[in-house]
Amino acid sequence: MERMTALLVAAGSGSRAGGGLPKQYRPLAGKALLAHALDRLERAGVDEVRVVIAAGHEPLFEEALGGRALPSPIVGGAERRDSVRSGLEALAEGAAPDLVLIHDAARPFLPPAVVGRLRSALADAPGAVPVLPVVDTLARQSGALGDVVDRSELVRVQTPQAFRFGAILAAHRAWRGGAATDDAQIARAAGLEVATVEGDAALEKLTYEADFARAEQRLAAAMTSRTGLGFDVHAFAAGRELWLGGLLIPHERGLEGHSDADAALHAITDALLGAAGEGDIGDHFPPSDPRWRGAPSALFVEHARDLILARGGAIDHVDVTLICEAPRIGPHRAAMRSRIAQLLRVAEERISVKATTTERLGFTGRGEGLAAQAVATIRLPEKS
Ligand code: MG
Repeated sequence: MERMTALLVAAGSGSRAGGGLPKQYRPLAGKALLAHALDRLERAGVDEVRVVIAAGHEPLFEEALGGRALPSPIVGGAERRDSVRSGLEALAEGAAPDLVLIHDAARPFLPPAVVGRLRSALADAPGAVPVLPVVDTLARQSGALGDVVDRSELVRVQTPQAFRFGAILAAHRAWRGGAATDDAQIARAAGLEVATVEGDAALEKLTYEADFARAEQRLAAAMTSRTGLGFDVHAFAAGRELWLGGLLIPHERGLEGHSDADAALHAITDALLGAAGEGDIGDHFPPSDPRWRGAPSALFVEHARDLILARGGAIDHVDVTLICEAPRIGPHRAAMRSRIAQLLRVAEERISVKATTTERLGFTGRGEGLAAQAVATIRLPEKS
């Protein structure tokens, strides 16, 4: 089969959708819009995905990847056309693909079947685009409502758009037409035939705040809520730092353990792994492995988070209870909550940190050790 690379255009600075971030980086059900598009492209069976981003967006891009391994992004230009051109030129510098799929990051719900139809159409034409009929009445308007426009010959053109790589690269190099809203018009201007295949309503572009709200509902409907429980105990020991809830807490003793022994983060990790049905912390980070000696437990939490996000899931809520007589947790609660939220990439409102004593009873009561319990609520796509 011919090699197909997807070029995902994510170089816009558009903030019409609100939320303070360029929309391709806005979270949707716990992961960036861009990451939804990436996961769909992967599932659609393209051989490679390259992303075109705006200059200076590298940290946002890195964060949006959430641990996904991808080649370095390509830096785009001022207009969409400039960004696509940059992407094509970057592909031409490497082992150029046979076919290229040019897609917008703002269309997160790509059905694999559309890619199949486009690929088939490229057997007979150098370009192919998904289209949908216009079902609403179309009319001109300049002030008052004017004449109806015949819609029978009109279609709505979507992305991804597929091309033979060499043909679309040449078309972009030859283009003198100024701004272009898609690549099919650039292909046609170069005399290339562009075939049409059936599009899909799921490919709608997310532009406005209301589009994001609808997309959230759509994803929510396809997810199952799951709960996991975590429990951990570590003994106090002299001469150790006390790490708890991802923070270094001033205290005369620390917790004994192979890693930094942060019982709160261990309980959270186990709760997340439990909710995802992914075993426990010992399966992923065996205490016998010298790599985890003195390791910051933040790594374990991030690993569990990434497992969930990689499956298209979302972390809804984590509630952790620390059980000890000392240190006093109260003064550190807000900072722990904030640190855990940061590690899980969720809003602080989704994290709860509580503390209790055992009325001087048992090992926690005698100050021999500290226990932590956590409950995590996550959502996973039903078919994952
Ligand atoms: Mg532990």
